[in-house]
Amino acid sequence: MRGLASVPSYVILQPTTLCNLDCAYCYLPLRAADRRMPVAVARAVAATVNAWAADVPRFSVVWHGGEPLAAGREHLAALMAPFRGVEHHVQTNATHIDDAWCAFFAEHGVRVGVSVDGPADLTSQRVTRGGRPAYDRIMRGIEALRRHEVPFAALCVVSDPRPGLATRLYEFFTELGCYALGVNVEEREGVNRRSNAHADEAVRAFWAELTEAWRADPRIELREVEWALRYAGATLAGAADELLPRQHDPIPTIAYDGRVVLLSPELAGFSDPGYGDFTSGNVLETPLDEIVAAVSAAPAGWIAEYLTGVEACRESCPYFGFCGGAHAANRYFEHGRFDGTVTEHCRNSKIRLLEGVLDHARAHA
Ligand code: SF4
Repeated sequence: MRGLASVPSYVILQPTTLCNLDCAYCYLPLRAADRRMPVAVARAVAATVNAWAADVPRFSVVWHGGEPLAAGREHLAALMAPFRGVEHHVQTNATHIDDAWCAFFAEHGVRVGVSVDGPADLTSQRVTRGGRPAYDRIMRGIEALRRHEVPFAALCVVSDPRPGLATRLYEFFTELGCYALGVNVEEREGVNRRSNAHADEAVRAFWAELTEAWRADPRIELREVEWALRYAGATLAGAADELLPRQHDPIPTIAYDGRVVLLSPELAGFSDPGYGDFTSGNVLETPLDEIVAAVSAAPAGWIAEYLTGVEACRESCPYFGFCGGAHAANRYFEHGRFDGTVTEHCRNSKIRLLEGVLDHARAHA
């Protein structure tokens, strides 16, 4: 895995900065403001993305806010209209979802991901702007999805990974009706400055227990655990080098105003005296394919520094073949720069994940 690809496998768009919730661990800096993406930005992105999508079997456009549904159906439909041959995805807090939104998802072929952290007590950090628990509203949205038979994936943030938690979580999500689950250990990034340092044994035990629960009832896709098992299997087969893509996916995030941030959506909306605003251009001024191709051909600034950090990972970390160097934003928000290596994020979500899955395998060998 070296350098940046000149064509991504998906793009992320921010239809609005606004979110109606105010979750305790949220990283978004502008979530109280409703800055909406003009249709001209979506048109400019589509001019490139439609050509990219025509060359591959699947190309995803991920609408990620703020809360994307806070943009409203009419505006979201207008933003989606210029795209051709793509899969639309939304990552939503589910609180707006009702019968009309379910009809919208069906009409526009939108794939839905909902953010919920487990039963009410484990979702207690997801709160309204007034500080009230959002759980009941989230579950009402999910009930609407179920009523209309809209398939959905779930994304769960775990703030305190520890033994005894994973089985309960997994049972909740198998009952919820999602077809897939992603588990994110809370990250220290953006405006969320809470520590994400945890005891090694606790996090490993969490992942091992989650693996155990999934293997006993593997009826949903369990994203992180399945990645780790795939890597372990490929290593045993001598094919681990073939798992990672050859180059980093540039993952363009297009902010509401057309500015493009590559590699890490979490950097959008931030600036730094040394690195500037982390953007690589604006689609209202330069076509997206030219922006990505220029950075891929000659990485500079923080992106060049990040690629230096990835090479340091390759030289020093036994987990590199699984991880590929993890995410730029985690390095920046934990180290204040991009060329460091190990972060608490990669300890929690790469190293201890792999070790926890292997602990499970060893215990059952
Ligand atoms: S686990 Fe951490 S140190 Fe190792 S390759 Fe990934 S980011 Fe780098």
